[in-house]
Amino acid sequence: MYQCPLCHQLNSSSMICQECYGIIKSLVKNQNYCIHCGKEIVAGNICGFCQSHSVVLDKFWASYYYKPPISTLIQEWKFHSRIQYSQILSYLMTQNEPPWIKEQAIDCIIAMPLTIDSYQKRLFNQSLELALYISKKYRIPLWNNSYINKHNLKPQHNLSQKERIENIKKSFKVTKTPDVSTILIIDDVATTLATVTELAKSLKQKDSYRVLVWVLAH
Ligand SMILES: [Zn+2]
Ligand SMILES: [Zn+2]
Repeated sequence: MYQCPLCHQLNSSSMICQECYGIIKSLVKNQNYCIHCGKEIVAGNICGFCQSHSVVLDKFWASYYYKPPISTLIQEWKFHSRIQYSQILSYLMTQNEPPWIKEQAIDCIIAMPLTIDSYQKRLFNQSLELALYISKKYRIPLWNNSYINKHNLKPQHNLSQKERIENIKKSFKVTKTPDVSTILIIDDVATTLATVTELAKSLKQKDSYRVLVWVLAH
């Protein structure tokens, strides 16, 4: 028997009960957003800003909206170190895969690194958990992300959006990059895309990569 982590009812078939799975499926992200920055748009697939500026993220895809119950599950996973949710969240993520996943000739996957502080609190890197599953499923090699160090200067939650962007700037130190052309970054949650954009910029400084991003929730 499994106990559904969301409603705590016992069921025999799967970790998440059918009822909660139905609710999660309703959170599949409506794909009317800019393919580069994730901003919701009414028509077309590139927002006004990305049409007139140089693009950092070559593609962006989010599987779900960051709303309950999936956000509840993600928070339990990260902040209560429920590593046993990695499998179900990876599975849910791949249930809404990017339409370009098989056609983009992706050479390698990079999991969003954690700061040492977060890693010590959590004891696992949630993005790496997702990336391992995706790497295996789509047979794309995973780049060793100990070559990328992340250091946050201040905790993010009390900062305004502008302050967050400043704080995130230059927060990645890349010591070695893969000798490839197309990279897929895997992250669990992207709120403003500032962090993932900063990582993409740090990688692009080293080489002329195409950088694609796939997150579980946005
Ligand atoms: Zn349930
Ligand atoms: Zn855009």
